[in-house]
Amino acid sequence: MILLNPNRHESLCPDERSREIMRKTIAFFENKGLKKVKEDDHARAWYADFLEFVKQERLFATLLTPARYGESADCRWDTWRNCEFNEILAFYGLAYWYTWQVSILGLGPIWMSKNEEMKRKAAQLLQEGNVFAFGLSERTHGADIYSTEMSLAPQPDGSYRANGEKYYIGNANLAPMVSTFGKMADTGEYVFFPADYRQKNYELIRNVCASQSYVGQYALHDYPVSAAEILHRGQEAWDACLNTVNVGKFNLGWASIGICTHALYEAIRHAANRRLYNMAVTDFPHVKQMFTDAYARLVAMKLFSLRAADYMRAASPDDRRYLLYNPIVKMKVTTQGEEVINLLWDVI
Ligand SMILES: Cc1cc2nc3c(=O)[nH]c(=O)nc-3n(C[C@H](O)[C@H](O)[C@H](O)COP(=O)(O)OP(=O)(O)OC[C@H]3O[C@@H](n4cnc5c(N)ncnc54)[C@H](O)[C@@H]3O)c2cc1C
Repeated sequence: MILLNPNRHESLCPDERSREIMRKTIAFFENKGLKKVKEDDHARAWYADFLEFVKQERLFATLLTPARYGESADCRWDTWRNCEFNEILAFYGLAYWYTWQVSILGLGPIWMSKNEEMKRKAAQLLQEGNVFAFGLSERTHGADIYSTEMSLAPQPDGSYRANGEKYYIGNANLAPMVSTFGKMADTGEYVFFPADYRQKNYELIRNVCASQSYVGQYALHDYPVSAAEILHRGQEAWDACLNTVNVGKFNLGWASIGICTHALYEAIRHAANRRLYNMAVTDFPHVKQMFTDAYARLVAMKLFSLRAADYMRAASPDDRRYLLYNPIVKMKVTTQGEEVINLLWDVI
């Protein structure tokens, strides 16, 4: 079966370590159990258990460290296996997926940087089980990143001071490197630099979402940044920003597939066990039609995304097919996911 089946998971990964990661992650959630997963969701409980599991099993370190910076041979950034991991996390809960997703976004400007010292630092932090964050959005400007107000002012000693606020930033409460996008105060050039939530000039204001995730608002007040910490400047900073969004937002399609797969199973279980007018709800012709429609859309979502994963993997200045496929995964696969959920709502 093409859809994820946690009871008989058939990993598409060729190597044992990758298959082990998928297996153990499924086992973690199956042991936690649907009841507890739902309770934590309803109570908006912080997912400390999941982050501890990630740390113990070196999951993000293995999956998100490029081979060159990895401490062990199993580390590599591999879109193919990351897609599978995306799907599994979202199958069990979007909050678990989100902390992984924003770590990917946070690492984007770091791995795309020429700053070797910061890359080695990130690799070390991954080994230690840390998560990452992407500080792009600002409350007043939203999608309009040209209007970014976060500003980095040069100091006489060659260092910088950052001032400004970011909004909607996942993991802003615990990422030691929050990749922060801003502008140089003197030249107006774009810039990316890391901010550490533990520094006293980093003010964590609040969680702006009522969910298990921490989607933070933070402010930097004269936050000190050394020249050695700068990740990107000028056009490179802008390109790193958009390319990170390209890489990261592709995952939204996979999250959608994971969510819809679980919802489909739950809906079928409910409808098949519910008897009305002396028949199972799954026997109603319109319910059959809705399930068939939902299933067909979900399979199409997955087939399309599998194909697109190849174009993401092959992407280069000469192979730009991903430019067509990636936005469709990001937008069309996710909106089809909404369609699937709407159909399932009607059934249950
Ligand atoms: C749960 C959650 C988590 C998030 N996590 C992060 C994170 O970790 N890091 C981060 O940096 N950001 C994060 N974001 C912010 C997200 O990237 C922003 O929501 C996004 O930039 C849009 O900003 P906005 O929501 O303020 O919408 P606005 O910018 O106010 O846009 C409103 C509407 O205007 C229209 N619009 C705007 N621009 C365009 C355009 N160019 N073309 C066509 N229509 C347009 C669209 O219809 C859009 O829906 C998160 C957001 C949410 C909801």
